Amino acid sequence: MMADCILSKIAKKQIKAHIFYEDDEFISFLDINPITEGHSLLIPKKEAETIHDLDEKQQKALGTAIYNVSEILKKKYGINISILNTSGKESGQSVPYFHIHLVPRKKEDRLWEGEKSKVIYDRSSGFKRLSPSKQILEKICKELKNLR
Ligand code: 5GP
Repeated sequence: MMADCILSKIAKKQIKAHIFYEDDEFISFLDINPITEGHSLLIPKKEAETIHDLDEKQQKALGTAIYNVSEILKKKYGINISILNTSGKESGQSVPYFHIHLVPRKKEDRLWEGEKSKVIYDRSSGFKRLSPSKQILEKICKELKNLR
């Protein structure tokens, strides 16, 4: 159920996450198993399962929130970023709570294959995510908070 899922608990601040951005409608924090360093999730404070479930306030605030988080990440990681949302199980959504992935990118990061850059977000692909320690996430989070 959506209310029991991990992102819902993070939104309600029942479970700790490394939150570095907050506005009236959204929060953003570091993904616990990042694709690249700085991989962040943006989620609404009020629960919604997919993009189709956002209320009018959330719809209006979403663009600004994506922009603001991108600007924070730009200050630490540069301009290159992949932004994506999975809405619906068949799109690869594994947690039933609306979230946008923001993945800082650089030339020849671990998502480059030969001359081609790609993004692998589907956890069932077997692509090995990173597993940074709490201390590392804490350090990155502190830096990002200061960049607002
Ligand atoms: P999806 O696979 O649904 O597109 O994305 C879910 C994301 O949530 C994944 O990237 C996963 O690593 C992240 N995630 C799952 N559990 C937690 C958690 O407890 N804390 C944080 N910060 N991220 C999580």
